[in-house]
Amino acid sequence: MTWFCKDEEGEKGPFTKDELQNLVYEKTINAQTLIRNENENDWRPLKEFAHTNTKPDDPEQSVESGEQFELNEQTSINKPIDNRETETDALRVCSQCRRSFPEDQVVTFDDQIICSDCKPAFVQRVKEGAGITTLLKYAGFWVRFGAKFIDGIILLVIQWLILIPLFMSGFGSITGNPAEIASDSKSFMLIAIQQLIGITMPAIYTTFFLGRFAATPGKMACGLKVVAPDGGKISYLRALGRNFAEWISAIIFFIGYIMAGFDTEKRAMHDRICSTRVVHK
Ligand SMILES: [Zn+2]
Repeated sequence: MTWFCKDEEGEKGPFTKDELQNLVYEKTINAQTLIRNENENDWRPLKEFAHTNTKPDDPEQSVESGEQFELNEQTSINKPIDNRETETDALRVCSQCRRSFPEDQVVTFDDQIICSDCKPAFVQRVKEGAGITTLLKYAGFWVRFGAKFIDGIILLVIQWLILIPLFMSGFGSITGNPAEIASDSKSFMLIAIQQLIGITMPAIYTTFFLGRFAATPGKMACGLKVVAPDGGKISYLRALGRNFAEWISAIIFFIGYIMAGFDTEKRAMHDRICSTRVVHK
């Protein structure tokens, strides 16, 4: 059974019962909004179709307060109810194929009605994570930026903890003059070590923390974690790959990071490449 609603902007639909319920939650429509179903041409307020478990005598208030409601496929006002119509009422519409089935031939999963034909495919999708994905709370750009900032400071401290003793040991000194640096093999060596640390430290740091705890210290501090699309933990290998995929996000003027602000699942470019998501714990 599909439904239509009507407001100043005109007719909208078709909607399922659940979609209609969502429109009420979003306050796009209310109990006064005129609706009809596919079998009827008369528009009537939603409250005349809706009935709830707690206050059957006052559907308007129940609907407006966000309670789950059922929709009568026939309004009883002008129509005689015979046995055949009562039977129709007991039919359930499969949320996948939209066919109607008697109540005992369908199963309900997380408020969705599934017929026996659609059940295997549906179960498979849930197993693959399609059904779980919607439960993840994706983390937006700014909180991730904060986490990155904290990680950046930690990494900087670690790098200097390694580099300062090298300076102190008279391993080399940087004057800032490129010609002198190039002519001084010790300084050149120091820069090489600095570069090497600059590449390997973040890689080790990210791979270890993401593989082990699903979050770097910065992300832990911000209550975030990096997960697979199904919400599961990622492997050390994927964590390492993600570290290098971040280079691509950074090389293109950090546009790869900014993408997270616009994506429906708040994926940065390296999340797309490695099939990861950053979520709130
Ligand atoms: Zn079906």
